Amino acid sequence: MGQLDGKVAVVTGGSSGIGLAIAARFVQEGARVFLTGRREAELAAAAQALGPWVIAVPGDVTREADLTRLYTAVEAGGSPVDILVANAGGGRPAVLADLTEDEFDLTSDLNFKATFFTVQRALPLFKDGGSIVLLGSAAGSGGSRRFGVYAATKAAVRSMARSMALELAGRGIRVNTLSPGPIATPSLAQAPAGVVEEATGRVPLGRPGRPEEVASAALFLASDESSYITGIELFVDGGARQV
Ligand code: NAP
Repeated sequence: MGQLDGKVAVVTGGSSGIGLAIAARFVQEGARVFLTGRREAELAAAAQALGPWVIAVPGDVTREADLTRLYTAVEAGGSPVDILVANAGGGRPAVLADLTEDEFDLTSDLNFKATFFTVQRALPLFKDGGSIVLLGSAAGSGGSRRFGVYAATKAAVRSMARSMALELAGRGIRVNTLSPGPIATPSLAQAPAGVVEEATGRVPLGRPGRPEEVASAALFLASDESSYITGIELFVDGGARQV
């Protein structure tokens, strides 16, 4: 028997990295998972690899029309949503002097604004007693060379989660932030020389994490195992911001 048997989950940014690992773990635990991402071929390949319990709905979470399409597909599935993981996120590393206004807006729209509306638009379909997990970052809890705007948007995510947890507690909906440290995903692999070494150098456990290690924490927050936990920030960072 799986920990998520019979549950319906929505995972944004699910065609690679952490989102893909979370979707895979949720399916393994018995959930039906709606998965979204912009690149159709990658998303279709991910869904096919994960099997018939995954429904791929291509789209960009920063676009209102795409969020509508996602949730229309979810509604057509006929069951309320038990779990939402707002995972889509990212941002190009750049020092203060180099980041352009367009890059600022892209990072802010994706990590901050789209996370808010991904949650807001899910609420009419959400089951009372469900669980919402927002992807923050350990970067949001400290100063960051080259990731200043990204870090600020993730601090905003953490702040939003507190308010959402308060507002949704009356419906029994829990809202928590899951904040990874450096995790070996495609986005980390594309980082400029030195970024991974610098980030990993701060990790007491001495290595980057694996997406599956973040998925285990996501499963905990999504499942009834965390039924008395809301508003927290759970770090999966090898101790980087903890010691
Ligand atoms: P990743 O490997 O680059 O994967 C990102 C996923 O999100 C992809 O499936 C991507 O697919 C999708 N995506 C990106 N922009 C999107 C958009 N506008 N609309 C819909 N989907 C979108 O990233 P990751 O490393 O797994 O990161 C996942 C989350 O964890 C992010 O929120 C990130 O900030 C956070 N995080 C990661 C690390 C790390 O070290 N990896 C550390 C701390 C926090 P498409 O490109 O096809 O859309």
